[in-house]
Amino acid sequence: MNYLQYYPVDIVNGEGTRCTLFVSGCEHACKGCYNKKSWSFSAGVVFDQVMEDQIIQDLQDTRIKRQGLTLSGGDPLHPRNIPTLLKLVKRVKQECTDKDIWVWTGYKLTELNEQQQEMLPYIDVLIDGKFIQEQADPALAWRGSANQIIHRFSAKDIR
Ligand code: SF4
Repeated sequence: MNYLQYYPVDIVNGEGTRCTLFVSGCEHACKGCYNKKSWSFSAGVVFDQVMEDQIIQDLQDTRIKRQGLTLSGGDPLHPRNIPTLLKLVKRVKQECTDKDIWVWTGYKLTELNEQQQEMLPYIDVLIDGKFIQEQADPALAWRGSANQIIHRFSAKDIR
């Protein structure tokens, strides 16, 4: 998996102060996409073990307390990105137990295949659905267009 940007301190992509990773690769091709350069799976740089360790270290940093990790893109739930991100979210929940995980995806929750659903036990907040320009509304919190849904998962007992 490649990623485009990593922000170790971010206050705009989810609640609280966060670490945010924008992954590469998206096939939804939404009209009016805010981040077209993220569509290519080869954009950005390779997400390696050093980067994974850095995120864990940043989440554990007590000098700047983060509420959690945000995964955006690109599409973090594209099947090509799942193996790498599954490993990351499992580590976050094992090694940073008080941190939440927010994920933005162009897929709808109801459309996720078996492989994509493997991510769900580790996600606290999922914002789903393509960006639909005709339903765009800058006043919406955490969403670009009104069709998108903020799912807040509370039952984590299958983790
Ligand atoms: S899902 Fe997001 S990154 Fe992908 S095309 Fe739509 S707006 Fe762009």
